[in-house]
Amino acid sequence: MVVPPTPENLERAAQVLRSGGLVAFPTETVYGLGANALEATAVAKIFEAKERPSFDPLIVHVADQEMLRVVVREIPPLAERLIERFWPGPLTLVLPKSAEVPGLVTAGLPTVAVRMPAHPVALELIRRAGLPVAAPSANPFGYLSPTRAEHVERMLGHRVDLILDGGRTAFGVESTIVLLAERPVLLRYGAVTVEELKDVLGTLELQIGESEKPLVPGQLPQHYAPRTPIRMAPAESIPLEVRRRVGYLAFQEVPKGFKVVKVLSPTGDLREAAAHLFEALHQLDRLGLEAIYAEPVPEMGLGRAIMDRLRRAASNP
Ligand code: AMP
Ligand code: MG
Repeated sequence: MVVPPTPENLERAAQVLRSGGLVAFPTETVYGLGANALEATAVAKIFEAKERPSFDPLIVHVADQEMLRVVVREIPPLAERLIERFWPGPLTLVLPKSAEVPGLVTAGLPTVAVRMPAHPVALELIRRAGLPVAAPSANPFGYLSPTRAEHVERMLGHRVDLILDGGRTAFGVESTIVLLAERPVLLRYGAVTVEELKDVLGTLELQIGESEKPLVPGQLPQHYAPRTPIRMAPAESIPLEVRRRVGYLAFQEVPKGFKVVKVLSPTGDLREAAAHLFEALHQLDRLGLEAIYAEPVPEMGLGRAIMDRLRRAASNP
């Protein structure tokens, strides 16, 4: 339902976010599809609604510095300077994530992308919810980013709890993304220009695109890849003498004989499975196992994105 951003509707939308629902809201770039960034099952609903066949890390939207401190582990001096100059505004910073942020928000990465939007409706919504809000653009996979509430209504109306109408968005292009590792790195061109950034930073390395090969030594990759070899196989197909030596990432039931088992969803719910996927992978990966076997999940709804992630992990050398 599309509603104007009156105080009552903002309160209602904040309540939807607090109770784990989805709210579409205007920002200065495009309309976002938001959920409580601290609750993995709420975030899973975003991926479900967008029908994206893969998981990508989301941008977390905050309303103030206190909220920023909830989602990041540290704020380096250069980040402070960028924040002072460009926030609220279309600049996203990638910083070390705090333990509060679920793996699904960052697609398993140790860093979180965060920004403070320069839109009164977005800011008021986040402030009232009292929560950082994870939000990608409010369009289904493969569609254009929405710059009006009607676009969201047409594409996703049946899948969001509430759409706040803030009129047409000002930029219509995405936020600029800067990673603050040892040195600042531009990850995506956007509404804040390279020249403006260089004004504050002096130098800025470019790493645009989907490259998985870091340019800077020690730089964080853009995709999380487990170190333990991963194979996809149903438990029945794995001999007992192998089971004893390896870990198993199960969808629903606990099979016998494995060294360690993590279950994604005891009730067989794909939303819950998505919510647990990255934490489960991290936990298994930390155990120094010979291998992790992963059970295929049904390839429907969120199951497609889960399988995409597992296949990628399995094809990693
Ligand atoms: P958007 O499409 O505007 O929601 O922006 C999401 C973009 O932010 C994606 O293209 C991601 O690649 C990027 N992003 C989010 N989190 C991270 C991260 N931790 N490290 C690198 N890039 C990120
Ligand atoms: Mg998008």
